[in-house]
Amino acid sequence: MRRVGFVSLGCPKALVDSERILTQLRAEGYELVQDYQAAELVVVNTCGFITPAVEESLEAIGEALRENGNVVVTGCLGERPETIRERHPKVAAITGQADLEGVMQAVRALLPHDEEPFTGLLPLASERGRPDARAVRLTPRHYAYLKVAEGCDHRCSFCVIPQLRGPQVSRDASDVLHEATRLVASGTKELIVIAQDTSAYGRDLRHRVSRYGDRDVEAHLVPLVRELASLGAWVRLHYVYPYPHVRELIPLMADGALLPYLDVPLQHASPRLLRAMRRPGGSESHLRTIEAWRRVCPELAIRSSFIVGFPGETEEDVVELLEFLTAARLDRVGVFTYSEVPGAAANDLPQVPEELKRERLDRVMALQQKLSAERLASKVGSSVAAIVDDYDELPGAVVARTTADAPGVDGVLRCQTDGTVKIGDLIEARVTGSDEYDLFGTCTRTLPWRPALAFGSAS
Ligand code: SF4
Repeated sequence: MRRVGFVSLGCPKALVDSERILTQLRAEGYELVQDYQAAELVVVNTCGFITPAVEESLEAIGEALRENGNVVVTGCLGERPETIRERHPKVAAITGQADLEGVMQAVRALLPHDEEPFTGLLPLASERGRPDARAVRLTPRHYAYLKVAEGCDHRCSFCVIPQLRGPQVSRDASDVLHEATRLVASGTKELIVIAQDTSAYGRDLRHRVSRYGDRDVEAHLVPLVRELASLGAWVRLHYVYPYPHVRELIPLMADGALLPYLDVPLQHASPRLLRAMRRPGGSESHLRTIEAWRRVCPELAIRSSFIVGFPGETEEDVVELLEFLTAARLDRVGVFTYSEVPGAAANDLPQVPEELKRERLDRVMALQQKLSAERLASKVGSSVAAIVDDYDELPGAVVARTTADAPGVDGVLRCQTDGTVKIGDLIEARVTGSDEYDLFGTCTRTLPWRPALAFGSAS
């Protein structure tokens, strides 16, 4: 068997691409190995979103070349082959993002099978009959990212994703639902729905219907999410624009069908700056929307991300952002300094000095830390449902996530149990303490996997 190593960089969307490539490699009889020395070839799936991500990708390619020498590059940075070749002329092949066939062609050419090709395609006897048994997953078994669309139709001035990934191309609802059904059948308890703009799902398809089971389902976020909710897993939404139809999802959250969680990347609060970013809204409309959502679902957890130091940002803009954060009391906030991306329209605008960007980042982070600590402290004494991600250092202790926390980006619940709790279990816990980002608690019981009962507060 020919042996392939794999390095996966970037966001959850890139991670889903990595899973597809790994699944195809294994389906074609390649052995997936964990270290450079054992591999005959290494595939590096890169990120090219912002300058630090480009640098990280170039460093990862350099390391793979040093340690192995036979390297295929794919992913977002692969859309800029000249940037890669300039630093690493010895890369064997370069393909663009989500180009599964391109990667496979390169691997087949560089590492042809010397055995009877068809035997390698047969599933192992032990894997036959297991749903989704051949799919390679880079997430733990109990949660999975479900990508509903590729590309993006927006033109935010700081972003080159539409150039790299092209316009939005959605999957049919039936395609998404079949994948979700397989995932849930193979033990996935949390489906995390992603796209560049999840709320625009299906627009490019004009919301066409497709057949799923005995019914037609529209390629539209609301009916899709209704169907996903009926599968019996937690369903979490990421990268949602606050479009009016998002309002229709909030009652599903209030009813417990959908996790009361929204990741809404607002990017700023100043309408003037948002216009320069080519994004809608401003603090007033953001607040109106958030208040309307919370009226319907008070336990809704909102995550957002913001950019400080965008070209032309003034002190008044920063104050507006600080005032917005104070009023909005968001649950989770990511703050980044603006970073130039080759090819982004915002590069032509007057830049904010690096020192000022850092100073603004510190101010926003300090405020949000205080707000986050207050919000988490208000949960002390309550009972929450959580899913167990890992074991903690002390015997019987686990690291879990409540419905308000997405993996990798939000906080955790560090929880003491009686030692019988396993990774992937759903538990009920009493919250006993908190800090700026995390909760601490004691497990009161393991909840049966009856997802309709599993959402929100367990008290
Ligand atoms: S919505 Fe804006 S920031 Fe997000 S991928 Fe599209 S262009 Fe980029």
